[in-house]
Amino acid sequence: MNLLPSIPLFRLFLFCALALSVSERGVAQSDNLPAAREPAGPVTNDSAPASAAAGPRVTFNSVHVDGPYVAMTFDDGPNATLTPKLLDLLAAHLMKVTFFVVGENAAEYPEIVKRAAREGHEIANHSWSHPNLGKMGDDAVRRELQKTDDAIRAAIGVRPTLMRPPYGSITARQKEWINDSFGYKIIIWDVDPLDWKRPGPSVVTRRILEETRPGSIILAHAIHPSTLEAMPTTFDQLEARGLKFVTVSELIAMARPLPPKAAASAPPARRSRPAGAPQEDTVAPAQPSPAIPNG
Ligand SMILES: [Zn+2]
Repeated sequence: MNLLPSIPLFRLFLFCALALSVSERGVAQSDNLPAAREPAGPVTNDSAPASAAAGPRVTFNSVHVDGPYVAMTFDDGPNATLTPKLLDLLAAHLMKVTFFVVGENAAEYPEIVKRAAREGHEIANHSWSHPNLGKMGDDAVRRELQKTDDAIRAAIGVRPTLMRPPYGSITARQKEWINDSFGYKIIIWDVDPLDWKRPGPSVVTRRILEETRPGSIILAHAIHPSTLEAMPTTFDQLEARGLKFVTVSELIAMARPLPPKAAASAPPARRSRPAGAPQEDTVAPAQPSPAIPNG
């Protein structure tokens, strides 16, 4: 029996097996990188790359953009005294922002909502009474969103196209049917200064400056005087970095696919959520109430 021809074949097989093993190890290593395609936010099930999504993206914590653009968002208003002051400040900075209004407040102060829209800001749905939507049945959620949709349309003549769940609390299933029924994109955030805990204006400013990068969606609540006090310095500092403020819909319109290499080398989230912070589907501070308006 002649064994000679089988020896090179065996060597070839050995070589292929070795090469395969090395390349698999390479893949495994890159999977272990602390890649964070979506920065920290309260919602966790949207960490899949956008390219893997079947249809258009529904939920945004931040947006991958090429330019120095960010979206500042103000939740829970309008507030009778603070929102007009904020609008004056925004006008002085030539900034456009997004207001996630609570329907009850929008219905009470439609003229403030109207002014905000007239001055180029985006008005979006933040529910009617700021409940924990993730814990509610579909009919109740639908009423919360529809009443607010109606109040916004009554104030400014057009329907909103974005919604943000109070506390960031919403289930994956709710996102889908809300998007199907209302056409809303679901907007969370990647920068949270925790201003509702009233840490003082300088802390609010520092947290925003530390966490904001191009494409960020910044959460704030213009219903607290200390948040408003923090804004002039915050805006000055972000502008000094060359960042430009656009509405959330404008930011989404600038979305670019995240290159695979950039995704693999993206730094880990800068600040993890504190314990007890909202998590997808399980969310909610112990006592969700309008007094703890995170989100
Ligand atoms: Zn809120």
